[in-house]
Amino acid sequence: MLSNEIKQKLITIVGKENVEDSQAVRLVYSYDATPQFQAMPDCVISPRNTKEVSEILKLCNENRIPIVPRGSGTNLSGGTCPTNGGIVLLFKHMNQIVQLDEENLTITVQPGVITGQLIQFVEEKGLFYPPDPSSMKISTIGGNINENSGGLRGLKYGVTKDYVIGLEIVLANGDILHTGGKLAKDVAGYDLTKLIVGSEGTLAVVTEATLKLIPKPKTKKTLLALYQNIDAAARSVSKIIAKKIIPATLEFIDQPTLKAVEDFAKIGLPTNVEAVLFIEQDGEESQVDKDMQSIEEICLLEGAVSVQKAKSVEEAENLSSARRAALSALARLRPTTILEDATVPRSEVANMVKAINEIAKKYDVTICTFGHAGDGNLHPTCTTDIRNQEEMERVERAFAEIFEAAIQLGGTITGEHGVGQMKAPYLEWQLGAEGVAIMRSIKQAFDPHNILNPGKIFAKNTRKRLVVSR
Ligand SMILES: Cc1cc2nc3c(=O)[nH]c(=O)nc-3n(C[C@H](O)[C@H](O)[C@H](O)COP(=O)(O)OP(=O)(O)OC[C@H]3O[C@@H](n4cnc5c(N)ncnc54)[C@H](O)[C@@H]3O)c2cc1C
Repeated sequence: MLSNEIKQKLITIVGKENVEDSQAVRLVYSYDATPQFQAMPDCVISPRNTKEVSEILKLCNENRIPIVPRGSGTNLSGGTCPTNGGIVLLFKHMNQIVQLDEENLTITVQPGVITGQLIQFVEEKGLFYPPDPSSMKISTIGGNINENSGGLRGLKYGVTKDYVIGLEIVLANGDILHTGGKLAKDVAGYDLTKLIVGSEGTLAVVTEATLKLIPKPKTKKTLLALYQNIDAAARSVSKIIAKKIIPATLEFIDQPTLKAVEDFAKIGLPTNVEAVLFIEQDGEESQVDKDMQSIEEICLLEGAVSVQKAKSVEEAENLSSARRAALSALARLRPTTILEDATVPRSEVANMVKAINEIAKKYDVTICTFGHAGDGNLHPTCTTDIRNQEEMERVERAFAEIFEAAIQLGGTITGEHGVGQMKAPYLEWQLGAEGVAIMRSIKQAFDPHNILNPGKIFAKNTRKRLVVSR
C-alpha cells in the first residue's frame, strides 16, 4: 500500500475526489478484458491535465512506484493488469477533442476520447478516421495508440500507427515532450512518435495525440460469400488481392462462430455453411460496383456456394455489427473465453486455419476462428473454463502450438493485441534474444527505474520452444 505521505501528495496534485483506494475500486481495476490475469493496484488516480500527469510521474519515479496507464481496459493481453501493484492512471477527465483542423486534415485529441465517438465526430464533417477495432464503442484513443490497434478496415487503410502523426507524452521522470506534429513530412531524428505507438504504456504516458484524417469514402457496399469448404474461402481471399482489388473489409468467420453470432444477434446469418467471407468495398460508386462484381465472380469461381449482397444500408450495418460482436457472442458459450491473434502472411491463411483446427483436435479443446482474413490476422478463440485446471493446461499447450505454427508460416505471435503479460514468454520466439535485448535497452533509456507498466512485454523467463512438425 502507498504510505500516507505519498497519498497526501497525490491528493495535493489531483484533488481528493480523484484519488481512490477503497477495496471495491481497487478490485474493479485489478483486471482487464484478459481472463487469466489479476493483481490489485494500491490506488486509482484520475488526473485532469498534462501538468498533473507530469507531477504524478515525477513523484512515482522518485519513490519507485509502478504506474499502469489505463484507457477502457479492453486489451486482450493482460496489458493493464497492475502486475506489480502501484497506481492505475485513468483518463476519464482527459477525454476532449482539442482541435479539428480541416485545412491540415488532422484532429488533436486527449487520450480518453472513445474511438467510436471520434469516428462519428469526423464522419459528420465528411472526414474519415479508418482504424476501427471491434471494441471501438468502448476503447479509447490512448489505448488504441499504445496497442497500435487494427480493425476491420486495416487491409485497405492500415492500422493506428498509420494515422498517429504527433504526440504529447510525459516521460517517467515527469518531463513533457512533443513528438511530430501536423506535418506530412518530418525526418528530424529518430521517429519517436512511431516508437511510442504500440509501446503498451511501458515507455511514456500519452497525454495528447494528433491524428491524420482522410476524406470520407462516397459510398460503401457489402456482401457475404458462403462456403462449404474453408480452403475455398481462403483461396478466394488470395485471389481477390491477386486481382489487385483491395476491399475495405475482408473478414473470415467459421461455422461455430457464425452459430454463436446468429444466436446472439438474430439477423438471419447462414449457419449451415462451413465459413463465410464478409466483404465491404468503399469509394466512388462506379468503382465500388465494378469491384463488387469482380469479387462476386472470384468467390463463385473459387467455390463459394452462394453470394448474398446487402440490400440496404441497414442490412449492411447489421452484418457489420454482427461481425464486431463475434467475441461477445462466443463469450456467452462457456465461463472463460481466450481470444488470440496469431497472424500469418495472407497467402498462408488456409494453412493457418487448418493448423488451428488440427491443434484444437489434438488437445481436445474448442477453438472457433474468425478474423481479418485480408490481413492474415486470425482470432482463434477458445471457449473454456478457468476453474478446470486440467483443461486450462491443454488450452495453454494448444495456444503455444498455435503461436509456433504461426511463426513457422512466416507470421507473428500477435497482429494487433500486443504482448502485455500474456505473450511476454513468447516474445523471444518471435524476435530472438538480440531483438529482445535491443528493446530492453530502449525501455531502460526511457524508464530507468521500470515504473511504467512493469511486468509487461518483457518476461522473466522465456517459454521453451516447442518443436512442431506438421
Ligand atoms: C470485444 C473486443 C473486441 C476487440 N477488437 C479489437 C480489434 O478489432 N482490433 C484490435 O486491435 N483490438 C481489439 N480489441 C482489443 C482492445 O480493444 C484494443 O487493444 C484497444 O486498443 C484497447 O483500448 P483501451 O482503451 O481499452 O486500452 P487499455 O486496455 O486500457 O490499455 C491498452 C494499453 O494501452 C496502455 N495505455 C492506455 N492509455 C494510455 C496512455 N494514455 N498512455 C500510455 N499508455 C496507455 C495501457 O497501459 C495498456 O498497455 C478488442 C477487445 C475486445 C474486448
